[in-house]
Amino acid sequence: MQHTHQNINRAEAPAWGATSPYFTLRELTASATAERQGIDNTPTTAACHMLAILVERLLHPIRLAWQAPIIVTSGYRCPELNRLVGGTPHSHHLLGCAADITAGSRQANRHLFDLIQQLHHAQLIRYTQLIAEDNYRWLHLSYVPSDLRGQSIVCQQPTPVTTDDVPAEVTIEDSS
Ligand SMILES: [Zn+2]
Repeated sequence: MQHTHQNINRAEAPAWGATSPYFTLRELTASATAERQGIDNTPTTAACHMLAILVERLLHPIRLAWQAPIIVTSGYRCPELNRLVGGTPHSHHLLGCAADITAGSRQANRHLFDLIQQLHHAQLIRYTQLIAEDNYRWLHLSYVPSDLRGQSIVCQQPTPVTTDDVPAEVTIEDSS
């Protein structure tokens, strides 16, 4: 007798609970800085849970609408890593509630930013903050379930002036 869950490919489902084929726990915790400095950036159980929510409620639906690769340059950061990359002490990255993403260029990130806002206005997604950092060099996106304020900010300055971080790890092609 076949089990009712026969159609779910358990081998490919991430062990952390998120079911998106586009985003892995590894991608959301990888850090060149952590590797260089020998820091163990393994997320706590709570952070792991929040990362799965971030993927299922935000990153996955956005990726489906975008229909092209979205690269996570920084997701979860343990406190030590967050200090090293210059993150603020209360950064959402510490909780597993934020990801820095890029579509590959400032121009593409501008379109992605607009798409995320459209999805939000159409009430297809909700988010806490959407920040275009350093004039669209990358997008900071956060999902804090208790605070889905839907705030979007464009920072023109090379150094972010708002609430978050300076990921030193972002290396993308500059289209301008
Ligand atoms: Zn960020």
